[in-house]
Amino acid sequence: MMLQVENIHVYYGAINALRGLSFHLEEGEIVALIGANGAGKSSTLKTISGLLRPRVGEIHFQGENITETPPAEIVRKGIVQVPEGRRIFPKMTVWENLEIGAYTVEDKEQTARDYEDIFTRFPRLKERRNQLGGTLSGGEQQMLAIARGLMAHPRLLLLDEPSMGLAPLLVEQIFEIIQDINSQGTSILLVEQNAQMALSIADRGYVLETGAVTIEDEALKLLENPKVINAYLGGEH
Ligand code: ATP
Repeated sequence: MMLQVENIHVYYGAINALRGLSFHLEEGEIVALIGANGAGKSSTLKTISGLLRPRVGEIHFQGENITETPPAEIVRKGIVQVPEGRRIFPKMTVWENLEIGAYTVEDKEQTARDYEDIFTRFPRLKERRNQLGGTLSGGEQQMLAIARGLMAHPRLLLLDEPSMGLAPLLVEQIFEIIQDINSQGTSILLVEQNAQMALSIADRGYVLETGAVTIEDEALKLLENPKVINAYLGGEH
């Protein structure tokens, strides 16, 4: 077991966002969390990253309790979040954005090699390496956000709505990149409103409703589950 989230309860002041949420991810898996707006998907990722603290419950990563671990330490342990809305630094160049992603990597020769790997995987970013992040297209910004995450050498990558706001062709490209990253050994926790795409690349999935898991299954089975089809796949399948 790589990640185990057990019975977490998370609040924003008086608002109870997560209500006894439990799920797990095994090494090498792509796991999808799907659910409507406000179901608690982003809050789940932020809690795993250490940006929110559960009032109740525990999170274990590779056998270690990380429930109270500070966010920077969680990154060093190998959990890296690519936040929703891309959140790249618009006034910094592509290169500088990547440099920030590598802040936990002490071996600077390693980082030099990482730029090469990233630019091989994302040739558009290489072409635009001296351009300001804010001048990139939406798809390029999403790629930069993922690339910035990879610079930290994640063992587990948390992706929050990577398809948001992108044209269908770009969504396909981003999902191919996610699969490729996974096939090279990085486990993936994927939060998506685009349940169809997410489940089509995931091994397993969980449906979240009002801060808790209501359905869990293999991704292919969720794609055939009538409740999932009606609520999250547009009902047309
Ligand atoms: P979305 O796709 O809209 O991001 P989500 O499934 O990721 O939805 P969360 O963003 O985790 O859901 O929100 C879960 C609950 O917590 C919602 O009821 C939301 O209104 C509430 N919430 C989220 N962020 C805050 C905040 N900063 N302050 C107060 N309440 C919040």
